Amino acid sequence: MRFGSSSFQHGIAVFEGIRCYATSGESSIFRLEDHARRLLDSARLLGIEHGYGLDDLCVKISTAAAAAGLQNCYLRPMLATGDPYLTVDLNALHFTLTIEVWPIPLSIPDSPGAGMEPSSYQPAGWRLALSEWRRPSPASFPSRAKATGIYVTSALAKTAATRAQYADAIQLDPLSGRVAEATSANIFVVRDGKIVTPWLADALLAGITRDSVLVLARELGVPAREGPVEVADLLAADEVFLTGTACELVTVSSVDDTHFVPDGPVFGMLAHAFGEAVTGERFGHLGWLTPVNSSVEPQVRQQPIGL
Ligand code: PMP
Repeated sequence: MRFGSSSFQHGIAVFEGIRCYATSGESSIFRLEDHARRLLDSARLLGIEHGYGLDDLCVKISTAAAAAGLQNCYLRPMLATGDPYLTVDLNALHFTLTIEVWPIPLSIPDSPGAGMEPSSYQPAGWRLALSEWRRPSPASFPSRAKATGIYVTSALAKTAATRAQYADAIQLDPLSGRVAEATSANIFVVRDGKIVTPWLADALLAGITRDSVLVLARELGVPAREGPVEVADLLAADEVFLTGTACELVTVSSVDDTHFVPDGPVFGMLAHAFGEAVTGERFGHLGWLTPVNSSVEPQVRQQPIGL
């Protein structure tokens, strides 16, 4: 990205994080159309003008995955401007698509890549801190948009947490003080066999993994709903876990000084079902997978990934 652009100087760009998984005989992109839709929604919420349609985005992302020649990878399409103007008037700027492809190990139990975990994976569960940094108010930022600039608040919360030896932080809704999400993941709370995840009335990203887990839970007969989650609900949980494209499903062992059963039965069941869904072994959800076009000549470009 050009240093003298508004995307670089002001953090004005929208992006997606998408996974491509090795499935039987080919690679498939998980919920490609939903990610592409969210990218378009993010652009719309910020008033970013561009010339891409849904089909166009899906084809370009799929082609980038094929060209990378990696079976398991993380795709990062971004709509950014390279225009050499230091303005925050988005009407004046032209936004174009770039797609980075990163190799990434898997972190799903029982999946083909089990044992190759992301760098911050902790087998005994992540220790989380409740952050003093709340999510930005919807009056200041559309929380439904996945935009680069909003990650400053994630960085503040995550950095403070890791300095204190926690794996990640939980951020609260700025107005209600309820639990919103972790710095790059959604949160789920299990109590008495029932699952609840913070509703979208609070300031959080509508995660696609979150949605997948809600669908899978209901399918498995586990009551699951979106609703208000007070800090007290979180601390009274039997199990807590996080969901996100990069971290997938991660079990949580504690929040500050409150401990939970890591790798609990509900988490285990959902992590297993999710692992099946992303690798094409859950036949009811083959529609979540888009096979990568293997006719594209691979051009391998390896980069490390940080979550
Ligand atoms: N919240 C935030 C702030 C995130 O950055 C992410 C990662 N995209 C998520 C939640 C999880 O969203 P998804 O499951 O779509 O990756």
